[in-house]
Amino acid sequence: MGRLATLKEGFRSGKIGVTEYYKDFFSRVRVRNEKLNALLEIFEKDALERAVKFDQSKSTLGNLPLGALPIAIKDMISIRGQELNASSKILKGYRAPRSATVTERLEKDGAIFVGRANCDEFAMGSSNENTSFGPVKNPCALDRTAGGSSGGSAAAVAAELCVGALGTDTGGSIRLPAAFCGITGLKPTYGRVSRSGAIAFASSLDQIGPMADDALDCAHILQSIAGRDPRDATSMPVKTENYIEACKSFSLKGVKIGLPKEYFQKGGVDPEIEKNLQSNLKVLEKEGAIIREASIPHTPYGIAVYYLVATAEAASNLARYDGIRYGKRVEQFKSLKDLIMQTRSEGFGSEVKRRIMLGTFALSSGYYDAYYSKAQFVRSKLQSEFLNAFKEVDLLFTPVAPSTAFKIGEKVNDPLQMYLSDIYTVSINLAGVPAIAFPVGHDSQNLPIGGQFIAPPFAEAKLLGAAAAFERAQPFQRRLAL
Ligand code: GLN
Repeated sequence: MGRLATLKEGFRSGKIGVTEYYKDFFSRVRVRNEKLNALLEIFEKDALERAVKFDQSKSTLGNLPLGALPIAIKDMISIRGQELNASSKILKGYRAPRSATVTERLEKDGAIFVGRANCDEFAMGSSNENTSFGPVKNPCALDRTAGGSSGGSAAAVAAELCVGALGTDTGGSIRLPAAFCGITGLKPTYGRVSRSGAIAFASSLDQIGPMADDALDCAHILQSIAGRDPRDATSMPVKTENYIEACKSFSLKGVKIGLPKEYFQKGGVDPEIEKNLQSNLKVLEKEGAIIREASIPHTPYGIAVYYLVATAEAASNLARYDGIRYGKRVEQFKSLKDLIMQTRSEGFGSEVKRRIMLGTFALSSGYYDAYYSKAQFVRSKLQSEFLNAFKEVDLLFTPVAPSTAFKIGEKVNDPLQMYLSDIYTVSINLAGVPAIAFPVGHDSQNLPIGGQFIAPPFAEAKLLGAAAAFERAQPFQRRLAL
């Protein structure tokens, strides 16, 4: 059982006193966060105040599904009254005027927010090095990246600075850091979780999702945040399921699992990961799953399509940071245009600027049809290929990333190499289907390896259930370097 479910039991039964727990907790958090830079801000005072209230009224604790549990929130998601920076200088000083729907729901269910998690600037990156506030270090190997963009959330979970966290995933940002840090992370179906109050990067791809020790802990968080929200027109009126129950009762017996052959082509994935996946297949078979070959033929175009669609949408979404409405504004300027130009030049980091330029180019007259329309066309192909694959199998199984956590600095000056880290994750966002990353072993350097299940739209119960069944069959022990 993960720490979230365990602590929930402890608080409920009264075996663990909430205030006592938090006092001890924050002394650990401060020390570890110094080393990792996972949290940009620790909400110690607010959290302790809430903890005391919980102890004063024990009865409320029992009624709340997430009563008093410490949760970290990626710096892309609003918490009323708190700073919200998207790890960017341009938003320094900006405070969220209201909570996102997800944070409102978590709070209503009793969660205590313990910190604001570092991430890549505007969630653009795969290593959490594109942040204005220093990279996040991987708790399993301090010279390595935690993955990105939700690296702060992943490192915070892995290093026990919280029992669960929210991340956002536009092209892999929950799953890649989950894999690098040896935790579990779910990217829900597009439309399963409200995006209201989250900073938009690429609106047709962004989803908020849970990150925690294991599938069951993720299920507890998803149960709270999933479901239709009138404040987000793209959140779908599809009934939620009992995700927690699914994790407890799901069996892999008779479940058909497809291996998309394009994901396993020679030379793509690190040989150690490949070898590990072969042994995972044995575990799945032993649990009664039926393994089959599957195919998503347009997979090789995923990266190109993603970086066109995502940059185009980012260029439009980030137009609002003009120095007038949000955060930073330069002090000296000659005209309105100069104010906007200077604020954006000083405020945005280089990866964000690169994407705004790429996206603006892809959308400009004359190039729109050549690039953007073509990308949308291939995107619809990918979508139908996933749906077709699910006519034959229940789930797909793939690696999360072609490598385990790489060294800090290794890819930061080579954007193309960095973009290739997302090769196994981006198509899933393009297709809008849900996927879960969960730890499946270690490589020879003791670094965690992640496996990924992909499911049909809105089949999160099956997805979480299958990951939970795997985690039961082959429990994972994280090896921290702290
Ligand atoms: N690494 C991808 C990118 O840089 C995905 C980011 C994300 O999912 N937010 O765009």
